[in-house]
Amino acid sequence: MKNQDLVNYLRECGVCLFCQLRYLKARGNEYQNRRQYLEKVNVEYKDETESSSDPAHKKKRQNVCPTCLDLFSKRFKDQLVQAILDTDIAKYECDGIVVAISIPIVLQLRQLSMWYALLDKFEKNFHQDRAPDVSLKEAIKLILHPTICENLKKKYDIDNGLMININLCHELENEEIARLEKLNNVAYPPKTGHKLEPISRSLIEKKYTPLRVSSELFKKTFSVPPSIPNESLKLDSISLVGPTAYVAGRYRKVSRKLSHTPWVLNGKRVMDDSIEEIIIRYIATYFCEDRTKINFMSSGREDVDVRCLGTGRPFVLEISNAFRTSLPPEQARQMEEYIDASQKVSVRNLQVVSRDDLSHIKMGEEQKRKCYRALCQLDGFATADILEKLNLPKGFEIQQKTPIRVLHRRPLHTRPRAVYSLKASVYAQNKRLLILDVVTQAGTYIKELVHGEFGRTTPSVSSLIGQPVDIVALDVMEIDLDWPPAVTF
Ligand SMILES: [Zn+2]
Repeated sequence: MKNQDLVNYLRECGVCLFCQLRYLKARGNEYQNRRQYLEKVNVEYKDETESSSDPAHKKKRQNVCPTCLDLFSKRFKDQLVQAILDTDIAKYECDGIVVAISIPIVLQLRQLSMWYALLDKFEKNFHQDRAPDVSLKEAIKLILHPTICENLKKKYDIDNGLMININLCHELENEEIARLEKLNNVAYPPKTGHKLEPISRSLIEKKYTPLRVSSELFKKTFSVPPSIPNESLKLDSISLVGPTAYVAGRYRKVSRKLSHTPWVLNGKRVMDDSIEEIIIRYIATYFCEDRTKINFMSSGREDVDVRCLGTGRPFVLEISNAFRTSLPPEQARQMEEYIDASQKVSVRNLQVVSRDDLSHIKMGEEQKRKCYRALCQLDGFATADILEKLNLPKGFEIQQKTPIRVLHRRPLHTRPRAVYSLKASVYAQNKRLLILDVVTQAGTYIKELVHGEFGRTTPSVSSLIGQPVDIVALDVMEIDLDWPPAVTF
């Protein structure tokens, strides 16, 4: 078989120049240098967009391509690019794009039909189980992706690009699927008691080749070669999904009346605000439109009435469908100032991080040390004896039952927990008050460590000194996680 014979036959069938190149197995920039390539493989060049004096010829060339349904035509490419420009793509500030084109099943069937036709015409030159063409999927990458990138002036970026989802449809789709269902019933009759496998792209890929379904059977349902349709493909929908941005920082909680996340009880807000909401409020609009899709993660959390001081607690916002993935320092500083103005939360070191950095927040929660300062009340005055009993720089181990106050969301267990050090001092203005500095293993319940919760935590500060101790206020002083890195302006 000469290349020219193949191309002549394809042209007789009304196949477009791009599809001719697909059947000539062009796999590179041949689609851009069409004339050069055809001449190289000894095929006479004919471009269907060139005018012709032969009216019959001209009519034929204007046909919808029976194999790609004009997917690769200039008209369709222009339409596609315009439709993308008509979306709100201008809102997205990214250099890269990813294109996902979903094609109707009718297109797959047409490739199949042309495969049977080529086997009929050229027999041994083609295989029954290896497609004769460069697949549409591959050709889309070679032809449409570069065109779209060039027109939008973006580069193709599979990792971080703006995802452009394009759905195509064709008027024959339902009709041809119905036919295929009938054929499938005969070609792959369902076993008794089994349901018929629904028609899908993967079903066609797996079960439909000339080796698996005979030419006679296929031809009873579909025309071979594929007929020239009246209509070309249509654009069904385009949707955009921006990349995911990760914004990290450290927060200090300076309010004793603020929950970590929105606190709702029986459908009613218990507290007006939360750390999560305050942080998201001042960061979201810069990155996205739908703040409900933002995921707030932190390295642990504190109770509503506990402050978090020192260098603060590391957190990350996972912002999906983001307009942008960078955060200039001036912008970050302004966000920090707005959050500080809430007088409930203060944020430092705001910065964009990579997805891999999330491991810092997620890993080793149990191994981390936590430093707390607790203000505690005694029944009587603090004595030298009490201070001595509570001066334990080498620490000790406790057995802690799940506190009653969290039993509704945590299973009941008794856990060993390490108290790495304990140090007590008297509060200068009130001798009944003790300041306890305590370093513990993550996951230790500090309030219970202090009062002992009726022996559910042993030993406790209370049991160590043999008298009741109340916790008045608690602060987290330091989180043992040196991340994200400090930002200097
Ligand atoms: Zn075509």
